[in-house]
Amino acid sequence: MLPGVTTLGEPLTRVLGPKTGLALEELFHLSTVGQLLRYYPRRFYTRGELTDLSSLREGDHVTVLARVVSVLDHPLPAVPGKGRRSRLEVIVTDDRARLTLTFFSGVPRYRKMLRPDVVGMFAGTVSSYRNRRQLVHPECEMLPGAAPNADLTPELAAEFATEMIPVYPASAKFPSWKIAKSVKTVLDTLDVGEDPLPAGVRERYELAGRAEAIRAIHRPLDPADRKRAIYRLKWDEAFLLQAALAQRRLAAAAMPAMPRPPIEDGIAGEFDARLPFTLTAGQVAVGQCIATDLACAYPMHRLLQGEVGSGKTVIAIRAMLQVVDAGGQAALLAPTEVLAQQHYRSITDMLGPLARRGQLGGAEHATGVALLTGSMGAAARRSALADVFTGDAGIVIGTHALLEEQVQFDDLGLVVIDEQHRFGVEQRDALRAKAADNRPHVLVMTATPIPRTVAMTVYGDLETSTLTELPAGRSPIASFVVPAADKPRYLERAWERVREEIGRGQQAYVVCPRIGGDADPGEDQAGDDQAGDDQAGDDQAGDDQAGDDFGDVDMTGAIPRGVVLGRRQPLAVLDVAATLDAGPLAGLRLGILHGRLHPEEKDRVMRAFTAGEIDVLVATTVIEVGVDVPNATVMVVMDAERFGVSQLHQLRGRVGRGTVAGLCLLVSEAPPASPARERLEAVAATLDGFKLSRLDLEQRREGDVLGATQAGRQSSLRLLRLLADENLIGQAREEASAVVSADPPLAAHPALREAIEELFGVQAEYLDKT
Ligand code: ADP
Ligand code: MG
Repeated sequence: MLPGVTTLGEPLTRVLGPKTGLALEELFHLSTVGQLLRYYPRRFYTRGELTDLSSLREGDHVTVLARVVSVLDHPLPAVPGKGRRSRLEVIVTDDRARLTLTFFSGVPRYRKMLRPDVVGMFAGTVSSYRNRRQLVHPECEMLPGAAPNADLTPELAAEFATEMIPVYPASAKFPSWKIAKSVKTVLDTLDVGEDPLPAGVRERYELAGRAEAIRAIHRPLDPADRKRAIYRLKWDEAFLLQAALAQRRLAAAAMPAMPRPPIEDGIAGEFDARLPFTLTAGQVAVGQCIATDLACAYPMHRLLQGEVGSGKTVIAIRAMLQVVDAGGQAALLAPTEVLAQQHYRSITDMLGPLARRGQLGGAEHATGVALLTGSMGAAARRSALADVFTGDAGIVIGTHALLEEQVQFDDLGLVVIDEQHRFGVEQRDALRAKAADNRPHVLVMTATPIPRTVAMTVYGDLETSTLTELPAGRSPIASFVVPAADKPRYLERAWERVREEIGRGQQAYVVCPRIGGDADPGEDQAGDDQAGDDQAGDDQAGDDQAGDDFGDVDMTGAIPRGVVLGRRQPLAVLDVAATLDAGPLAGLRLGILHGRLHPEEKDRVMRAFTAGEIDVLVATTVIEVGVDVPNATVMVVMDAERFGVSQLHQLRGRVGRGTVAGLCLLVSEAPPASPARERLEAVAATLDGFKLSRLDLEQRREGDVLGATQAGRQSSLRLLRLLADENLIGQAREEASAVVSADPPLAAHPALREAIEELFGVQAEYLDKT
């Protein structure tokens, strides 16, 4: 390294000295020059445009740009031996509102520095004293040349007036301008090296140079300069990510996998013949796509998305049977015990004699279906493990229990993951690792529609297929918001509707955000729910935890702060069931389902509900995914504002699965026109899952979306907005894929290779391993 030249990979302790370097590391997790330079200003002050002081809220840590109005020295009562003491009260203004700065020590110094009319930046935590907002002992940085100054030429004054001053997310210990100084020190000697973006791309999209962009995002000359910088640096993020993903896809495709081509007269064909319905055109098309993938000599990595009820399971079964026909095994990983059991039942039902290998009445070339969950008894488990091991079970269905070490397959050829959003990449990989060659085909299914850009980033290493139509004969779901607070009569009417449906022989769900019944800690209900699930049977805690874990993320992620209504606890299954039983739904057969029930009890309740022995199932979100009881036609969601948009959409997919129209009632006390209420109205207004998933995404931070699955990518995507930058991401994906397919190891693009490494750090290793 040349002396006096700073590179992006260099540690900050070396460039800025150990003290500043360590402080940046400790306070902001910034340890390299590149990381500091990606710590972008949150906004800018233009000198001359003072901070709007009326917007400050108590408790916020703020950095404000303001002009000193007056300085008052209030003597304090003398304390023997302490000398003269005073409190300095400085009033600053944005020319409209005022703010008090208070100092108890260093008074002479501040009195000298803070004279009327000077402009400075003041950082501290907003508090309130006698109804006036104040900063006590703020950090101060006076702007040079800002004081009325005889030497200030009009030109100089004009320049100062438009200078953009960066404001960084900072802390009291390390204020914004100290970060700005560190950035400046680094920028002064920075050598960014060669541009990682190919020249062609830079030209086509008229991108600023990299060094220029890095400088300008911190020290823009004017807003246009900054805009150009942001555009260029967004390209860096998108391009580097897409190049890394393209490498991953190519690496995966280069690894051999056992081809599992379809055969003429196997179980798959018989299964098709046995189907009581005709496949939709979409099912046929996606099915063919998958059949072709499975016949390839490299592993399939496919994401299948489709609305609830669009018939994904059938597609998965046909894929599994193709693999079984070809002599392999297929595993289906479900997120909850309830769902695994339901899959097991419906698959064995649909297969009929085809699933009864070696049993009386079994078809000649039948296969075995094994179920593996954490709550199984020892004997059943042993027998299932043996069937999996010998290959007698061609189809293996299970929960997290499938990932355990003892589970060994004879020849795992296909892994199907249902409802991907509940599993991380790690789990996907853990199951894949159970195949002898580590390369099974993988099919991931999700009913949460994924906006195109999320598919391209979070799931960027998967090919996607989408089922866009529902099978014929499906009835639409009508959804309504029931404003329980402002229109109590509507709630009564809701329960009457439930009674009417049940009077017609239908069934209903009532969904609540919390289980209740225990010593409620008064914490966030989602956490409560999950804690409860953790205790459900010691060896299967993993099971439902996955389910409610997501619920937790979803809820906290999707609910704008401040929505919490009053002090009331969210409604709980146990309380609501008791209330309904004693009142509005008295005389009906009520059942209860939540994660804290013993797994056998859960299964019993689900069977009873499926068999029509329960009229109303009062439940938590355990019923969110996949539960399929076509006779259930009404769903009432209590405290609906507690759930995320996508989650509500998932939930209501439980009704309207049969030929009778479904009805979903979203009960909420959120006041009219509140953001929470508007969110619910939006859910009620459309059945378009893609629209709703965009709405969901708009209300979450990108980090939540990315972070949930790909921890490493969270910190690397700073500027990209998955919705707003859809075009850019698409363009970057095309450009990056072209570069990578022409030169997979990027041998001719050392700067690009290095930049990927620098940006993704640890993740690059992960990419290499694949
Ligand atoms: P998803 O998993 O996509 O939510 P499922 O695969 O569970 O949907 O299908 C929902 C229901 O629709 C099931 O009862 C299934 O048997 C039925 N089904 C699937 N495909 C069709 C079809 N083409 N025609 C009629 N019913 C279908
Ligand atoms: Mg399903």
